[in-house]
Amino acid sequence: MAKTENTVSMEKIVSLAKRRGFVFQSSEIYGGFNGFWDYGPYGVRMKRAIEQLWWREMVETRDNVEGLDSTIICHPQVWKASGHLDQFSDEMCDCRDCKSRHRVDMMEDTKVCSDCGGGNLTEPREFNLMMKTFVGPVADEENTAYLRAETCQPIFVDFHNVRVATRQKLPFGIAQIGKAFRNEINPRNFTFRSR
Ligand SMILES: [Zn+2]
Repeated sequence: MAKTENTVSMEKIVSLAKRRGFVFQSSEIYGGFNGFWDYGPYGVRMKRAIEQLWWREMVETRDNVEGLDSTIICHPQVWKASGHLDQFSDEMCDCRDCKSRHRVDMMEDTKVCSDCGGGNLTEPREFNLMMKTFVGPVADEENTAYLRAETCQPIFVDFHNVRVATRQKLPFGIAQIGKAFRNEINPRNFTFRSR
């Protein structure tokens, strides 16, 4: 987009959203945490209003859509079966000079750093986007779990239970609202690509 006098920068939007109490940077008093955002008093009001409207229109007023509120952590096999464990990754490379990190598929030229213009980049590496955690007292491979990378995966896993419990006939829908977690390499554009 061509910049004109009226072009509003992302910095201005972020600053306005903060001043007006819509969105704050997470952990700001400790210098912030890159890619994480908190909804302030007016932000949460707006977010709830949109969610409630969506839920009413999409779920409650329709006979062929059911609601669900699943856990944030699922059995690791869910993510193995869905392919996320093996496939949900981006190729990335680092700039050895300015330490910036780049998604290979977003780079105009994979030999040149878009931040500093240097050519001292590492070889591309696969970077899984799921947030890893440990369930139980021991932090080892056997207890590794993942925060859900999508809100839809638990819907697929609970499909049979929902269908039997509600006696829905195919085709029908299952709806869910909630947080999903992606360990974005390069969070940017405010809340549009957050972690
Ligand atoms: Zn660089």
